[in-house]
Parts: sequence; C-alpha cells; structure tokens
Amino acid sequence: MGDTDEQSAWGFETRAIHAGQDPDPVSGAVVVPISLSTTFAQDEVGQHKGYEYSRSGNPTRTAYETQVAALEDARHGLAFASGLAAEDNVLRLLAPGQRVLLGNDAYGGTFRLISKVHTHLAWTAVDLLDLDALVAAWPSDTALVWLETPTNPLLRCFDIEAITAIAHERGAMVCVDNTFATPFLQQPLSLGADIVVHSATKYLGGHSDVVGGFLALSDDELAQRLRFTQNAAGAVPAPFDCYLTLRGVKTLAVRMERHCANARAVVDLLVGHPAVERVLYPQLPDHPGHAAAARQMRDFGGMVSFTLRGGRDAALRVAAATELFTLGESLGAVESLIEHPGQMTHASAAGSPLEVPDHLIRLSVGIESAHDLVADLEQALTTA
Ligand SMILES: *Cc1c(COP(=O)(O)O)cnc(C)c1O
Repeated sequence: MGDTDEQSAWGFETRAIHAGQDPDPVSGAVVVPISLSTTFAQDEVGQHKGYEYSRSGNPTRTAYETQVAALEDARHGLAFASGLAAEDNVLRLLAPGQRVLLGNDAYGGTFRLISKVHTHLAWTAVDLLDLDALVAAWPSDTALVWLETPTNPLLRCFDIEAITAIAHERGAMVCVDNTFATPFLQQPLSLGADIVVHSATKYLGGHSDVVGGFLALSDDELAQRLRFTQNAAGAVPAPFDCYLTLRGVKTLAVRMERHCANARAVVDLLVGHPAVERVLYPQLPDHPGHAAAARQMRDFGGMVSFTLRGGRDAALRVAAATELFTLGESLGAVESLIEHPGQMTHASAAGSPLEVPDHLIRLSVGIESAHDLVADLEQALTTA
C-alpha cells in the first residue's frame, strides 16, 4: 500500500490512481487483481496474511477502500453493497429511541430507511438553511445529524462546518452524504463531520454499471464499531464490484471537471428560457446555500434541477422529449440523464415533509459534448 506519509502528500489525482494500488507483489500486475477466493490459507490456526474469509476482508476491497479513504482524507474506508447498506450501517450505531435530525430535502431512500425500516428511532426533518431556527428547535435527544449537501433533488447546500459545530456542542454526531459533491469537490471530514457516506453507484463508479456504497471516517473507535457491523450484518460488495468502482474512481477528477463545465453550459441555456420558471444550481447567486457552497466546494457539480412554468404536464412532456438525456433514475455517470423526481426517485417521499414539487425536473449532466446536450434540451423545451 506504500508509505502513508508519502500518500498524504500526494495530490488528489495521484491518490486516485496510486493509493492502495501498488503493483501486485507476486506478478507485478499494474491493475489490482480481482480476488475471487472466499477463503484464505492459514499457516497455523489464526496465522494468516490478513485475510480469512471474504465477507470479513478481501484484497480487492482493501485496495478500493484504501483508495477512496485517501480521497476523503480519511483514516478508514468501508465499502458496502449499496449506498443504502452503508447508511443502514451508520443508523445501526444508534440505540432505540435516539433521534436523527435530517434536512427536509434529502434522498427519498434515506428518508424511507430512517422512517420505515429503523422504526425504533425517532426523527425530525428540519430546514438546515436556517441555523438560528435549528438551534432554537434542537431536540435534546438528537444523536445524529444527517446532512446531505448538495441535496437530492433541490440541490440546496448547507454549511457543513457551522452545522457540525452546533451538533458537536450538543453531543450529536454528523454524517454527511457526499454523493453529489464527491471528494473531488468537497471533503466533509476536513470541515469537522464525523462520517462521510456515498452512494458509490453514482459519481464514484461513474459509468452506470455497478451499485455500491461507502463510508469514510477518521475516528478509530467509531470505525471499529462500523467494521464490526459491516462484517456482522454482511452487506459487503462483491470483488468484481469493488474492482469496477476502483476503476471508475481513477478518473473521478477529470470526469468531475467536465461534469461541472457541461452543467454550466446547461444552466446558461435554462436561465432566462421562457418555459423555465426557476433554475436550481448552487453556483447561481440566489440559490439557497450558494454562499456555503462557494466556501466549501471546489466547483458546483454536475446536477441541475429546474421547474417549468407549464406545471406538471409540461415537466412530464420535457422529460419524455429529450433524445440524448435518457429518461431514467440514478445519476453521476458519463451519460446524461433526465427524470421527474416527484414520480420517480422521490415518489416514496409523497405526503411527507420531504415531498418535492411536481413541476420539477432533475438533470444529471454527463460528459458528452456540451453543445449536443444544450441542443437536445433546447428541442425538448419546445414541448413545454
Ligand atoms: C442513490 C443515492 C443514495 C442511495 O444509494 P444506493 O447506492 O442507490 O443504495 C443515497 N444518497 C444519495 C444522495 C443518492 O443519490
């Protein structure tokens, strides 16, 4: 795995390609091998080379965990079979009756996991933009603050450093869902957060061909508890999935730069377009949380949402009219996607405090040629 001091001095792009990825000592292979073996030989009982059984630890997974932990400036990285499996592991840290405070705009599946699966926990959804209101209404039994920034799908941005300070003063932990920003744009641990969670299915994998989740953190004791649950509950990724995600992460920096540039081209088209009511993008000066985003993010990301003057029916027509933007769930990959959150990704939040407007469209802007993406949206908007 190389010298850790040397690795921490490396730039982001170098860590993505070399952290945890020394050439294979046996063959010299430059690419981390996919280790399919479920069991590992022991010289004597309990004497092994660091691996016993592949649920507990696997060499391909170790390489991937080391790589992404290095990108988050974390001491520990834990890979899971999906983003929700990673989130589930975090929620298992809490005792029955303890409270999760979450933003009132978050990934629908996160809200479903907290409210419908971890039913032994209490939860409160709050507006994390208003810090005075947050302090005034702070429930004293809060054990965990769930912070997603930018949020899915409204792309609101919250001040990680300020909210973490408020939570820590009151004895609560902070978990940041960094799926939309990725460690290339934002590093929550350096802003004080306790745990970073990813849906690796999105930008980390980056090619819409693998489902995965990730936790990054630096606290040794907390990492030990999470590793225990990772092994004991067993929601680990397969070696091939680890390999695919590790391969995707190598190009994260160059992909993110292009995602951001293409998103800006799309925003330029949408702002001022007669069919568009409002554009939601963290770079826009009037965007909720713009100041926090400008402080804590390197750039503003590849996700763009907007509402249509023509209401829900116009939104549904535009979603069906694009040709390059594929109508589908998910996000963060090389190809552009369009969706209607109210009836797709966020349908499970209907009737809850996390319900989204029904004239909202969400775009995951890919890395195709910007002028082709702009032309496609322009023709689709004629149907609005
Ligand atoms: C997709 C997503 C998740 C869930 O991850 P899966 O890999 O689908 O389980 C969590 N948070 C955010 C922000 C997401 O977009």
